[in-house]
Amino acid sequence: MARKNPTPNQRKSLLLKNAYRCCVCKQSGVGFELHHIDGDNSNTIESNLAVLCVSDHDNHHRPNRYTHKIFCKDLRPEVLEIYKNRWENFVVEAKKEKPQVIATLNVFGFDDFIHSMKLVMQRIDGTIEYEQLHHLHFGTPEDWIDDVLQEVQNIGNNIKVVVVNSPLEVEICPESKRSYSQTLDECMATKITASDWGDNSYLSVFINAEQPSLGLIVCYDNEVIFTATLHKCKDDFLHLESEGPNFREKIKSKPSIRTQVSSIVKKLVHEWEPAFILYGTGDPDAPQTLENMTLPKFWENRN
Ligand SMILES: [Zn+2]
Repeated sequence: MARKNPTPNQRKSLLLKNAYRCCVCKQSGVGFELHHIDGDNSNTIESNLAVLCVSDHDNHHRPNRYTHKIFCKDLRPEVLEIYKNRWENFVVEAKKEKPQVIATLNVFGFDDFIHSMKLVMQRIDGTIEYEQLHHLHFGTPEDWIDDVLQEVQNIGNNIKVVVVNSPLEVEICPESKRSYSQTLDECMATKITASDWGDNSYLSVFINAEQPSLGLIVCYDNEVIFTATLHKCKDDFLHLESEGPNFREKIKSKPSIRTQVSSIVKKLVHEWEPAFILYGTGDPDAPQTLENMTLPKFWENRN
């Protein structure tokens, strides 16, 4: 069959669907080529055309030229098809009014010296779509922030950008794909992406009437998205257990143990910013509601 070129409209529509990025490496601002996935140059239906940067296109056609393991990529037709579909789906989601994707910013260095930043584009379930590293060879942290915000906006106007940690104290620039990336877990990601969180969420604290322990539940849209328990261990520790944060904190001599417990609960409330807080005690199946967090006196027993 004779070679058929995609029409200008097809090209425009495909580039738009790929947010003007290569579907393999996600680079933008480079030359793009529309590659025929099945190798048939006359088959110009959209599902057969992948947006590739010049380098990945060349890599596909001349894999033997890319022997170094950093550059050698598996770009067989069936793999290219996965890249294309995955990335185009991500872009569709990213352009929604309430996208279920987040831009997570990992910062590396020290409070007074940030040497690199990594933009991690993730889905709400924590899976990483792609990463983009910025470091001192290319401008200053202020420049990177501008670049990151611009990049995120180009992919979707309503994507939230979240800085996940205070600087991770490492001295060398993390190399893009081999370094550890922090993503937001699904619970927090649900909170961040929910536009009606301030109306549609609540946190309940269930106070055990018989033992020094309490349970915390965060609900959004009538679904439980986070649970934790806090109890007093022997050896005088306060122990918080959850799928996310876990810690054991030595009980201090002052203030009262109940005050120390309250401040841990307050921290969680501050983090979750629920629309309502409910306190309950007694029979877990038919709890009796309380006006505020009143803990039984037995919390004060010290060993
Ligand atoms: Zn590429």
